[in-house]
Amino acid sequence: MLGALGHVVGWPIPQGGAQAIADALAACLRSYGGTIVTGRPVTHIDELPTAHNYLFDLTPRQLLQIAGDRLPTGYRHRLERFRHGPGVFKLDYALAEPIPWADSACLRTATVHLGGSLQQIADAERAPHLNNHAARPYVLLAQPTLFDPTRAPAGMHVAWAYCHVPQYSTVDMTDAIEDQIERFAPGFRERILARSAMNCAAMESWNANLVGGDISAGLPDWRQLIARPVLSLRPQRTPRRGSIFVPPQPHPAPVCMACAAPMQRRRCCVGPSLRVDAGAGVGAKPCLTPYLFPGRARRACSITPTT
Ligand SMILES: Cc1cc2nc3c(=O)[nH]c(=O)nc-3n(C[C@H](O)[C@H](O)[C@H](O)COP(=O)(O)OP(=O)(O)OC[C@H]3O[C@@H](n4cnc5c(N)ncnc54)[C@H](O)[C@@H]3O)c2cc1C
Repeated sequence: MLGALGHVVGWPIPQGGAQAIADALAACLRSYGGTIVTGRPVTHIDELPTAHNYLFDLTPRQLLQIAGDRLPTGYRHRLERFRHGPGVFKLDYALAEPIPWADSACLRTATVHLGGSLQQIADAERAPHLNNHAARPYVLLAQPTLFDPTRAPAGMHVAWAYCHVPQYSTVDMTDAIEDQIERFAPGFRERILARSAMNCAAMESWNANLVGGDISAGLPDWRQLIARPVLSLRPQRTPRRGSIFVPPQPHPAPVCMACAAPMQRRRCCVGPSLRVDAGAGVGAKPCLTPYLFPGRARRACSITPTT
């Protein structure tokens, strides 16, 4: 759905924040008589009331902990082989003013990808897979208050940014991320009122699905894009009757943003006037996700610098 929206109207952000989506879904369930219990971690399936069906919105690792003793041995071994990918280091910001992008086109989008040349992006994204930390990480940044002022006090702004790091990394990437933002928005640091950092451990303790800080709920390599979590015509159904397991990022969720890029690139190619390379060297080099459209807010935008 996100891929379709990104293609047709732009990358959407919910008014009031992602909580608004959870609230809407909860209201929908309650309208059908459903009840919701929160703050109660489930450690074993026996803790749950008897039911015809169980839906576990969890990673394979957690499913094994909760219901492993109820699953056939062969299936268990297949789940055990499921691999997680790099983690993330995330920063949340309270800002006195919008980010002072060198290229004002970046103010027309809620999501900005800060990479550099294709080679720099490739190097930065390869590093965590080799257990390294990129000196110039590929930074995904969101600046929602430009389009949804309800998320901050009047006149103020929020933003968040993350980069990939090796799984379970405890390295503080604050300086590396902020250096990368400063590279494209000189004066950014002066606008920071407060910041909050989350490393891989903090991500996992916030949400147990983010194993080792992996927000994709499993390495999205070619094998695990198809076998997610196992190779099957019905990959979400466990062999145990009545038990359905819903990985938090079922196929093709981890790539929906990446998928949008080639789709948008095709549309960008319709006419040169549609294309905006929002970097210091406008149009100088190809960038990985050049999908910003003039006149449309909330597009994701990649910066192609000359340095
Ligand atoms: C910073 C960030 C950026 C992201 N960007 C993108 C993006 O650009 N594109 C994209 O497609 N995805 C992105 N994602 C991933 C996306 O947020 C997730 O795929 C999505 O939230 C999954 O939703 P879900 O409801 O299936 O699972 P979750 O949101 O993980 O919800 C599962 C719930 O189950 C709870 N839980 C876990 N274990 C237990 C237990 N044992 N007992 C009881 N409850 C338990 C958790 O606390 C959580 O509340 C991003 C994630 C983060 C953190």
